[in-house]
Amino acid sequence: MAEPTTRPTDAATMDKIVALCKRRGFVFASSEIYGGLGSTYDYGHYGVLLKTNVKSEWWRAMVQERDDIVALDSAILQHPRTWEASGHLAGFTDPMVDCRTCGQRFRADHLPELQCPQKPSKHPGEAEACDLTQARDFNLMFETTMGPVKDSGATVYLRPETAQGIFVNFKNVLQFSRKKPPFGIAQVGKSFRNEITPGNFVFRTREFEQMEMEFFVPPDDAPRWYELWKAARFAWYVELGIREDHLRLREHDPDELSHYSSGTADVEYLFPIGWSELEGIANRGDFDLKQHAEFSGQKLEYFDGQTGERYVPHVIEPAAGADRALLAFLVDAYDEDELGGEQRTVLNLHPRLAPVKVAVLPHLRKDGLPEAAAEVYAGLRGRMQSEYDEGGSIGKRYRRQDEIGTPYCVTVDHQSLEDSTVTLRDRDTLEQERLAMEGLSDELAARLARPWSSPKAGASSTRVTGA
Ligand code: ATP
Repeated sequence: MAEPTTRPTDAATMDKIVALCKRRGFVFASSEIYGGLGSTYDYGHYGVLLKTNVKSEWWRAMVQERDDIVALDSAILQHPRTWEASGHLAGFTDPMVDCRTCGQRFRADHLPELQCPQKPSKHPGEAEACDLTQARDFNLMFETTMGPVKDSGATVYLRPETAQGIFVNFKNVLQFSRKKPPFGIAQVGKSFRNEITPGNFVFRTREFEQMEMEFFVPPDDAPRWYELWKAARFAWYVELGIREDHLRLREHDPDELSHYSSGTADVEYLFPIGWSELEGIANRGDFDLKQHAEFSGQKLEYFDGQTGERYVPHVIEPAAGADRALLAFLVDAYDEDELGGEQRTVLNLHPRLAPVKVAVLPHLRKDGLPEAAAEVYAGLRGRMQSEYDEGGSIGKRYRRQDEIGTPYCVTVDHQSLEDSTVTLRDRDTLEQERLAMEGLSDELAARLARPWSSPKAGASSTRVTGA
């Protein structure tokens, strides 16, 4: 499919996504009553459900559907030698400049994308009053002290990535999992980076969640596995409904590669801010295991008792961000249309990602309809995330569910009392059909499991502007 060359005229803008997230309690500024804390966010009910579904889909693809990957949950605080060995203490830096006029800090390599706080039409350094310092390196790791006495305690770091917790556990996992290369270790968890210029909502924050997997392979097989993982990770986003013409794989130029990497590619999404990284897939060679072997004095290698073969496996790493993925799913799902003369905001989320799968609505708040609807709700909620809503007109309640991306609404009306049927409304097609109450949860479960593609795909809202 042809790639759009410029931003499409999509209804989704970052401002609209932020507003919807706040309005419906998906994500909001952290510590709001104290005026917020620079680019940290809290997830509310629907945000938690959505992010949990994103992470569950990742676990499903990594562990449930494969035999060669095991799960791990390592500590956020690790021995400080970890970060010496990994190179983070010496080299996990970004170039930073300060402006002597406004006192703000900027990432030197992001200046063309940033606004001057005093003259927003200009980039930092462009306005006459700007007075930028020389760029200097700033380490992104958050430092803290372990132990009760600040002065004599050991300096430890909040992990800036989950990957190192996997490498330092290689030996443990190899021993207990009864796996041999090719095999992988997967981890989901919080990471912390003292980003100089966080921003664009949850795209870049200082505290975020990563979904990382280290796949250990015999050295000669690394190029093949690198190709396989690039394809698999791209396909994951497509399967979960991201429009394919809004996704691309960008291979890094040789000058972008870390010294140990023989190949890195980013899965990029066409956010309202332009093409940006969603996930990186890297062929890391044997760098990490060799470094930790050297710094720990432990042997981190694979020994095949049958063939007598001994080697340090090479590593292919798909590293994704849960919050960034959630943002991409929201942007891709967001749409506006007109229904009965009223504007509707709808999240066309993949049913597997939708925070709520079905809403049960009594048509009226009388005549025994709430009681009958409550019974239907009780029959569904044990099977899937469901919601019961009897407040407001039926149209208003549909709109509310559309806005949080609920794929199905079940309405209980007077006919339901006579023939034990309900109306099933489909968020995407807006079709309504009568279904028997009996077997409703089986029917819904089957519909939710079907392959799905975005109604926005190929629609006019994805029209390409410009060349
Ligand atoms: P970037 O170039 O955007 O800073 P990166 O290349 O440093 O990202 P990695 O170290 O490869 O990122 O981390 C893997 C993934 O973790 C990224 O693709 C992204 O989805 C997520 N991630 C990294 N930094 C942040 C952040 N500050 N906020 C939110 N997600 C992040």
